[in-house]
Amino acid sequence: MEGINVQFRRKKNPLPSLDILFKGICNGDTVLLSRAITLLESNVATDRLLAQQLLEKCLTEKRQISPTCRIGITGVPGAGKSTLIESLGLKLCAAQKKIAVLAIDPSSARTGGSILGDKTRMMQLALEPNAFIRPTPGGTTLGGVARATGDAIILLETAGFDYIIVETIGVGQSEVKVHALTDIFLLLLLPNAGDEVQGIKRGIVEMADIVVVNKADGDFLAAATQAQNFYRHALHLFPTKIKNWVVPVLTCSAQNNLGVDTVLDTIVKFFEFKKSNGILLENRKQQSEQWFLETVELALRNDFFSNETLKQNFNLFKTNVVAGLISPFEAAEKLMALYKK
Ligand code: GDP
Repeated sequence: MEGINVQFRRKKNPLPSLDILFKGICNGDTVLLSRAITLLESNVATDRLLAQQLLEKCLTEKRQISPTCRIGITGVPGAGKSTLIESLGLKLCAAQKKIAVLAIDPSSARTGGSILGDKTRMMQLALEPNAFIRPTPGGTTLGGVARATGDAIILLETAGFDYIIVETIGVGQSEVKVHALTDIFLLLLLPNAGDEVQGIKRGIVEMADIVVVNKADGDFLAAATQAQNFYRHALHLFPTKIKNWVVPVLTCSAQNNLGVDTVLDTIVKFFEFKKSNGILLENRKQQSEQWFLETVELALRNDFFSNETLKQNFNLFKTNVVAGLISPFEAAEKLMALYKK
């Protein structure tokens, strides 16, 4: 059904050729860039082929001189992510930098689908000629979202963006994926102490390179300082993730533009730190390897479970394994023998 709709729309607005898309992206044409990102999200076979060709062309023909700064920003809804991103983005634009934002669309985060897009957020930033804002690539599976986001980053880098910000909500699984797609992971907190109070998933705080407590203004100021102390102490208990980098815990008021300069300076400092000691490129290599492995594993799993007979046998073996009638290892071996047939 989706395929038919796509084909109908395409008749009215056919896709540009590979060369046009590539040249448009290289020239920073945001209309073609948007169409190309949409292409990445498609499951239509001809689209996938064109998307693959485009990605290959971007990776092989357009070499970047220096790496783009990829930033993941996470925090519960209402923490002030879009307010902070807008504030950071405006500063970067004023410094003649090009910034792209793959932003969460609140409607799609809630309902799994979006009609209106992310129009009401970051309105000032959206007016900047050097800024490009796009709802986070959608998808039905986490793997799909990650693939589309990872591939969108390649297109954005080809288009010459200096900074790419990927926004996620720190309550689900997606930030683990975004963490593995970016160089810097910034956790934005509300002025409350304690992860449970904030509704943050376990493990997210440990993943952060920079922690920022937002809304350090007015009535929230004292609570923000308290939260800052709490997280400084809490982070002290974790082993350092990166040698010689003590995770800073900052406060800011994104709305009143207080402390945002320090947040930006810290981002730049951490990026330069990672770049200068070789960690940045090493991390990216590890991330690519990890994505490759994960994608192969996922494809194999999908292939396996899309076979009805195998699925039935899997359930049968599972029942017997649980009943103690066959060892889990023997059952797995037998099942794999069936798969290989
Ligand atoms: P997001 O859901 O994390 O993207 O959060 P938003 O950026 O949409 O902000 C949620 C609400 O908090 C909005 O009403 C903002 O105006 C408000 N807000 C954002 N930053 C600040 C801040 O620094 N101080 C105060 N007092 N409110 C803020």
